[in-house]
Amino acid sequence: MNNALWEQAADEIRRSIGDNHFRTWISQLEFAGLESGVVRFHAPTNFVGDWVKRNYTDRILRALGNVGAAAERVEISASRGAERAAPAPGRPANGKADPEPAPARVATGDPDLPGAPLDGRFRFDNFVVGKPNALAHAAARRVAEAGPVTFNPLFLYGGVGLGKTHLMHAIAWELQAAQPELRVLYLSAEQFMYRFVQALRDKQVMDFKGLFRSVDVLMVDDVQFIAGKESTQEEFFHTFNALVDQNRQIVISADRAPGEIQNMEERIRSRLQCGLVVDLHPTDYELRLGILQQKAEQYADTYGKMTIVSGVLEFLAHRITTNVRVLEGALTRLFAFASLVGRAIDMDLVQECLADILRASEQRVTVEEIQRKVAEHYNVRLADIIGPKRMRTIARPRQVAMYLSKELTSRSLPEIGRRFGGRDHTTIMHGVRKIDSLRGSDRQLAEDLDLLRRLLQS
Ligand code: ADP
Ligand code: MG
Repeated sequence: MNNALWEQAADEIRRSIGDNHFRTWISQLEFAGLESGVVRFHAPTNFVGDWVKRNYTDRILRALGNVGAAAERVEISASRGAERAAPAPGRPANGKADPEPAPARVATGDPDLPGAPLDGRFRFDNFVVGKPNALAHAAARRVAEAGPVTFNPLFLYGGVGLGKTHLMHAIAWELQAAQPELRVLYLSAEQFMYRFVQALRDKQVMDFKGLFRSVDVLMVDDVQFIAGKESTQEEFFHTFNALVDQNRQIVISADRAPGEIQNMEERIRSRLQCGLVVDLHPTDYELRLGILQQKAEQYADTYGKMTIVSGVLEFLAHRITTNVRVLEGALTRLFAFASLVGRAIDMDLVQECLADILRASEQRVTVEEIQRKVAEHYNVRLADIIGPKRMRTIARPRQVAMYLSKELTSRSLPEIGRRFGGRDHTTIMHGVRKIDSLRGSDRQLAEDLDLLRRLLQS
């Protein structure tokens, strides 16, 4: 059997267990072959391997059977001495993985609408309200009441993992429960684009337009995605206007304020601003603790009741300040590990399981600091690190700064790009790769990186 068959099977597994579980467990596996009824995988750690074997063996075998690659047994080895210190399933340290335990109950609402499934856990009931998100929550509540449209659109923005998608799903759930006949369409801007391109290809643009203009409530998540995508923006703009004209509610989210979305047409930006624009602020300690307490209760349903030694949640709320997804990931890991080894969740377990996350949240280095230190180190001007000059004496230090920003902060490439004078994320990626490939052969560069790292982390 080849990898492609496994990928098909994996796809089926993804659909049946949901993205979050998939990412945490199955996507960690490296397919190593199927022979005489035994399918083999490598896992990054014994912990992941054991967990997958215990919980997903049947699913894996069934999915393989369905793609015509029947097997009777799953064997998983921890790959090539890669056992890490922490029995880490995901890699929340870089803010990517977001393991979550409760299986997502999913509903699609109106089956005729091309929307994305709603996550059953994203409801107002389990949205913890605190100072940083109170306004966004109140506005979302208001929209969910579906009274007369008072602000259109509702524009929610904020950093990764602060609850934008959660609130949007909550609105959709609430509306559908109260008024089943309402046509509520939720989708990501990426899906909007995908459908539009598909319609163009299949010459069904009129159907597309008709459909999108027929909904009562349109919710588009992560609208920054269509920045720079001209024809999609154009279509979005027309859909948007048509709905506003008919007094239909629109809810939009983005990772930044409308005015800050680059490569977005001015007329669209100003349209986006003409309703209510609210931001979700970074979480504070109380909110994080509230969220942890609530999640701990929920996780007990999945993993069984676990003893959490007092002080542990407080410690996590204090230390993990990046985003809620990382916080959840940390708690998932603790529950998974504690249930596996039958231990209480105490500070020892925290140190063992979360070493990487804790280390990452220790280094609260900012991109600005990195730029400043790099400029100093190479004797160039800070303005030049950020600016457009292309000569090598400046470009190389700039790439070093990009590389360190990626390594030492949890900023995404687009976020880093913005801090480098609005460069595109591909430019940042190029810079990061460049340094990554050079540092193996260039001793001086490797030393520079070490020195800068130490300076920044001291
Ligand atoms: P965003 O869309 O802003 O990136 P999400 O809505 O996907 O963030 O939230 C990330 C995770 O954090 C989700 O699992 C969500 O349920 C959880 N979360 C975020 N804020 C809260 C909150 N205030 N209360 C409970 N869970 C939250
Ligand atoms: Mg989101």
